Amino acid sequence: MSMSKKKGIVLSVLILVVGLFYYIGVEDQNGQLGSSKKLAFEDKGDFKIVYGKTQNPRYAEYNKLLESSKGFESIAVFLNGTFILQKDFPIIIEECGFINAYYTPDEKKIVICDELLDNLTQNFSYIVKTKEEVDRAVTGAAYFILFHELGHGMIDVYNLTYSGKEEDVADQLASVILTGLGEDGPKAAITGANYFYITSSEIGPGYAFWDEHALNQQRYYNILCWVYGSNPPKFNYFVGTYGLPQDRAARCQYEYEKMFKFWDANLTPYVKVQIKAGAN
Ligand SMILES: [Zn+2]
Repeated sequence: MSMSKKKGIVLSVLILVVGLFYYIGVEDQNGQLGSSKKLAFEDKGDFKIVYGKTQNPRYAEYNKLLESSKGFESIAVFLNGTFILQKDFPIIIEECGFINAYYTPDEKKIVICDELLDNLTQNFSYIVKTKEEVDRAVTGAAYFILFHELGHGMIDVYNLTYSGKEEDVADQLASVILTGLGEDGPKAAITGANYFYITSSEIGPGYAFWDEHALNQQRYYNILCWVYGSNPPKFNYFVGTYGLPQDRAARCQYEYEKMFKFWDANLTPYVKVQIKAGAN
């Protein structure tokens, strides 16, 4: 694929997503827990957003950006209203000394490194112009990365069984949950996908910051496919010359529905409110 065509794909999708910055809307929760519903355990913990140790003044700016957007905090509100936990689950944003985001099963926490936010900023700076647009793209991609890591976390704390590679499964879980979160959720997924696309092309330096992930381009097309599949009429513009190939698009709704049913069923003992499908 030529460079200009690649750029075209990234730009055509990204232009539609840079509006993301504000809240992942926590919609009023219909379908409250029925009395007949059996949860796996008593809800004794919370997801907690923690801005951790950050010395570098440039990185401190990222923490400020995230904190002032209240995006992570509003995700935590959604998570705490939806999922049960046996104990607190910290989500830490801090300086790590390396570019990464990870979940540690030993400590049952997620760490999102300032170095990764810095890398996101550098990469999005290649394709969007204003600082505001870059900030929106960075926070959007950070939301997706958080949900991906939450996928790893849920697999661990709920002891979920799945088939295939855990990395793909974490992307699936992130996509399933995000597509049900109003207008901003799907945008976050697509912004995350754009980051994978950018870092798989000649545009960016091409860091492979997670081990054992599918090729970044493959991840891009998967996420694009699942968001499209969650509501094909709404995301019809993903299909065509600069987006999803027709033959892949034709299978996306089926892929999404299969994924949604699987996760909906598997998460049922651990949710106070059913997760929402994107297709509605
Ligand atoms: Zn991962």
